[in-house]
Amino acid sequence: MDELPLPASAHPQAFRSLAPAVHRGSTVVFGSMAEYGSRRERFYDGYSYGLYGTPTSRELERRIAALEGATRSFVVPSGMAAITLVTLACAGAGGRVLFPDSAYDPVRTLATTLLAPCGVEVAFYDPLIGRDIACLLTPATRLVWVESPGSVTMEVQDVPAIAEAARLRGVRVAADATWATPLRFRALAHGADFAVNAVSKYLNGHSDVLMGAVSVREEALYRRLRDMARALGHGVSPEDCALVMRGLETLGLRLDRSEATGLRLARWLAARPEVDAVLHPALPSCPGHAIWRRDFTGASGVFSVVLAAWTRPRLPAVVEALRHFAIGASWGATRSLVAPIDPAPARTAVPWTAGGPILRFSAGVEDAAALEADLAQAFALFGPPPRDPINVVRVESTR
Ligand SMILES: *Cc1c(COP(=O)(O)O)cnc(C)c1O
Repeated sequence: MDELPLPASAHPQAFRSLAPAVHRGSTVVFGSMAEYGSRRERFYDGYSYGLYGTPTSRELERRIAALEGATRSFVVPSGMAAITLVTLACAGAGGRVLFPDSAYDPVRTLATTLLAPCGVEVAFYDPLIGRDIACLLTPATRLVWVESPGSVTMEVQDVPAIAEAARLRGVRVAADATWATPLRFRALAHGADFAVNAVSKYLNGHSDVLMGAVSVREEALYRRLRDMARALGHGVSPEDCALVMRGLETLGLRLDRSEATGLRLARWLAARPEVDAVLHPALPSCPGHAIWRRDFTGASGVFSVVLAAWTRPRLPAVVEALRHFAIGASWGATRSLVAPIDPAPARTAVPWTAGGPILRFSAGVEDAAALEADLAQAFALFGPPPRDPINVVRVESTR
């Protein structure tokens, strides 16, 4: 050990590769006393400590910023960490934050375990509220969250209308745009101040990394996020950043494939007697479909179906008979997934009234015909629908 010299340079100039370099490091070392003394000046842009960024994390942030049309992007350890970070960066004691009733479920735990004890009030609103959000903006409101579409019930929100109403009142807007990815919906261009993506889903896309990203246009917001993340001790591993950059290389290909397969499966399911409603933003049966057509450049491969109530007893056998769809709650990767989800207990603003269970599907990149055949063999196990229509509660609308 005594014989080991200090590294000459972390940047070998003569080696050029298409793969981004993985720069590991907790300690950052300095060439002089003066450089060390002024390291805090390099907190936002240079390097002062491994936790505050490495050349690998900064390269990933540059690439995500380019996708989002942002000035700055910032990566954190998970999508949930990104949601918490943005919320804490905007609202302190006495502040109020609004979430759509369709929001990613763990935000309810954020509201009760962290925000409420810190004196931040949280309210949930009808995701289809549009410009009437103005009625819910009190002088204490600091932040409005949108999640469009909601990742279980798929309501597409009028983000420009909500953002405009909030902007007129000086209220910030944060968008969880994980379903669409920046390739299908650029949240900043539609009026949001913060674009959040759970990188764990499509951006990485291989079910093996947890990460979140926040993108902004305003430098002041970026600095505020960095300061808050420093207090929370957030940092990401350079290996994970390199894996995400590998995933980003095929994001467009994967998304095109998942979109096409998802639509094929959604249309197949829509024609089934077991299915009461297909909640896919690209289909007219989805609440907010017209807004999706106006604001989005395409779909991803995630959608839900509301099954008829009579399917309930056979549902476990059917789901477990699927051979290509693993049962799992995450989504947006190469493998197809299915998740039975009941949104009703979580809802507080708009009751969820559909009588039957929900299955959420995430179409992967497998052969679409094989996936459809898999659904067909499993759905056959439901058996014929009950004969007496009087005993069947048909839900025409999910609202
Ligand atoms: C998964 C998900 C998150 C959280 O991401 P994690 O990296 O799992 O914490 C946030 N929002 C949406 C819409 C998600 O699907």
